[in-house]
Amino acid sequence: NGPAENTLGERVKVVVRVRPPRGQETGGAIGLDQNGTRLVVFRENSVVPQSEFEYDQVLPPSATQADVYQAAVQPIVADVMNGYNGTIMAFGQTGAGKTYTLSSIQPDAIGMMPRAGAEIFEEISADPGNEYTVFMSYIQIYMELIQDLLRPENENLQIRESENGVFVAGVQEVEVKGMQDCLHLLQIGDRNRVVAFTNLNAHSSRSHAIVMLTVIKRRRLGATSRGEVQKVKVGKLFIVDLAGSERLKKSRSTGLRATEAKSINLSLTTLGMCINARADPNSQHVPFRDSKLTRLLQESLGGNAKTSLVIAVANAIEHVDESLQTLQFGARAMCV
Ligand code: ADP
Ligand code: MG
Repeated sequence: NGPAENTLGERVKVVVRVRPPRGQETGGAIGLDQNGTRLVVFRENSVVPQSEFEYDQVLPPSATQADVYQAAVQPIVADVMNGYNGTIMAFGQTGAGKTYTLSSIQPDAIGMMPRAGAEIFEEISADPGNEYTVFMSYIQIYMELIQDLLRPENENLQIRESENGVFVAGVQEVEVKGMQDCLHLLQIGDRNRVVAFTNLNAHSSRSHAIVMLTVIKRRRLGATSRGEVQKVKVGKLFIVDLAGSERLKKSRSTGLRATEAKSINLSLTTLGMCINARADPNSQHVPFRDSKLTRLLQESLGGNAKTSLVIAVANAIEHVDESLQTLQFGARAMCV
């Protein structure tokens, strides 16, 4: 069993999701092509596009959660079932639709995380020849501290490495037996996240939230002279709701806010630097070790695992500047 057997070692798949304008927002900022791979960005009162971008896929405002799942998540879940790692990351400014996309629990708009859980359990029940155990963890990275959202009193977990890869030492791993369990833990974690931020008088859009689903597969190989042998495969799915990518206004950032801005920038900036370094064939060094986020995701970003990057943007004239930054980040990731 090796990478040649599947499609590992692929570059990052970049999927843009454009959300419709909301409230007082004015649409018309983003134009889509017919093929669903290109988009153009317009400034206010201009019919001439400001910029044009190409991605693996561009999903229009009419796209459903099922469409996003098919584009960004489905190709990864199969690998996870077979003992490989996979990552889905959502990037974009606050309000662009990252959390809605990844972890909505609205019954008519269930997000990627519970959908991935549902598919994992469907595949398990269709495969009685193997035994599976699935664990879920939920953490956040805020100001370079890793907090366990399922055990919020643990707010400074450490990243370690073993021969099996990178892991979060001491993180709560709860066995899940169906999608309902995933939804339940997601709600508990989100509640803890809100409490943690209310206590800090800060907003949760400043932290990176990461759900990890670990799938352990045991296969009976039949009786041997030493008894029944079980082969174990472990696959991990990371679902990463990144902190808002907007630039914090420097003049207003003092005290906690200034420190916060610096360390949020540390994880997001380092992510950007890793993507740039990976995109540059002449680059000698990828600075994975420079932030918690990139250390944890280094296997995902290092080319040994499948990764989808969902770029969330709002089709709103008011947000064109931030959207351009976001779309440029996604365009660079196309080269990784
Ligand atoms: P973010 O997590 O990027 O800050 P949210 O996911 O919280 O943004 O989305 C902001 C608001 O927009 C929420 O009220 C959400 O329900 C709504 N929203 C986001 N994406 C869509 C979409 N594709 N269709 C309809 N509503 C959306
Ligand atoms: Mg959010």
